[in-house]
Amino acid sequence: MPVVYTPTVGEACREFGHIYRRPRGLYVTVADRGRVREVLRNWPAPDVAMIVVTDGERILGLGDLGAHGMGIPIGKLALYSACAGVDPNRCLPIMLDVGTENEELLNDPLYTGLVRRRARGLEYAELVEEFVVAVREVFPGAILQFEDFATEQAFALLARYRDRLPCFNDDIQGTAAVTLAGLWAAGRVTGRRLADQTLLFLGAGAAATGIADLIVTALVRDGISLEAARGRCWFVDSQGLVVQGRAGLASHKLPFAHPHAPLAGLLDAIEAVRPTAILGLSAQPGAFSEAVLRAMARINERPIVFALSNPTSKAECTAEAAYRATEGRALFAAGSPFGPIEAFGRRFEPGQGNNAYIFPGLGLGAIASGAERITDEMFLAAAEAVAGMVDQDRLDRGGLFPALDRIRSVSAAIAVAVVDVAVSAGVAAPSVQSSADRVRAATYDPGYPSYC
Ligand code: NAD
Repeated sequence: MPVVYTPTVGEACREFGHIYRRPRGLYVTVADRGRVREVLRNWPAPDVAMIVVTDGERILGLGDLGAHGMGIPIGKLALYSACAGVDPNRCLPIMLDVGTENEELLNDPLYTGLVRRRARGLEYAELVEEFVVAVREVFPGAILQFEDFATEQAFALLARYRDRLPCFNDDIQGTAAVTLAGLWAAGRVTGRRLADQTLLFLGAGAAATGIADLIVTALVRDGISLEAARGRCWFVDSQGLVVQGRAGLASHKLPFAHPHAPLAGLLDAIEAVRPTAILGLSAQPGAFSEAVLRAMARINERPIVFALSNPTSKAECTAEAAYRATEGRALFAAGSPFGPIEAFGRRFEPGQGNNAYIFPGLGLGAIASGAERITDEMFLAAAEAVAGMVDQDRLDRGGLFPALDRIRSVSAAIAVAVVDVAVSAGVAAPSVQSSADRVRAATYDPGYPSYC
């Protein structure tokens, strides 16, 4: 995982032009406008099932790496094969090369991309539109994953295309699902339902509001009113508590702006809101201070503390800080890996909320069912499957996600759940085969056939 995924894949992207040996994946550039269909037809393996596409503008936490962001689609698709058994011959990494604002790359003679500033506005929108239309025509039924687009673009593209072809955004929806899986697993420990949690997010950006949106979907599905569901989610951003009437609130924060007096800091907000869980998506290291963690431990028997900002250096607190300040009572998860910790006579093995628990299985299920759309219910089903597969002894050691060496069976369980959801929602055709058989039939096996 650390080679195909973070941190090594980030290094590979940074060095991409300098270590380049042979071409992989497909490049579609703004210069190809008007003939994107022909470019896609150049791909030599026409039976494409899974596409990961980026425009390289926000590669991990590394910013704009232009065409050198191609390492990300390549790495993600390797995970589809490794973690879920999606046939590598049916995977297609695509770079939408629209230029870059990265001066270093623009001045690097070994930069592999278009040497120009990023296309914006209409020029950008027209290329993406032509690309999506061409994907539907050249690779009908293929699933399109948007990856590492800048936040604003990520939301806009998802909204524009989610009802037109099977597509999703892993940064928004995958993150939300894996976090929800962690919350459900924490609920298995505390015996508290999601509906009984009060969640306080630090940071109100794309990741945090994406998570809250999926939590609201889950609560509404369980029969809670939309208003009450939103009322379970509170936010503190760089301006303090997000409250009704605060001037200049961005539109994605409005549903979560509740009536309350303005409060400046996280600690005040904790005392006022009395959350059962705090979730850090602010990239502010140390923001979950000892005082914050102690307040959570005073209010809750088992406080949920998710320090989700990446990389490790940005996490709101370390695993050790969370356990020490709460006498080992915290249910802790992070976006980056933390090693085991010995404290209070116990050994804690905290979990990493890694999207790789979700997207490979979800993709496999969508492929197996031939889903025409990727729905929020599929992400809920994936999160439920993951939460249900955490062994009791792992929960006992503080882990809220399944062991990574069980990823193939986790992905298979997700895929079966996704097929069921797809059929019952009417976005995939029913079959005489069972969902498990459909998944098995779609799973690539790298072994030699038995007659060899
Ligand atoms: P973003 O820029 O959209 O949002 C950042 C938010 O943090 C903003 O709302 C901002 O107001 C808030 N913020 C900044 N300084 C603050 C402060 N001092 N106090 C309170 N809030 C403050 O970014 P994003 O895409 O939402 O990502 C945020 C973090 O989440 C990143 O570190 C990213 O690595 C992490 N993330 C983790 C995962 C995961 O799988 N664990 C997935 C996605 C994002």
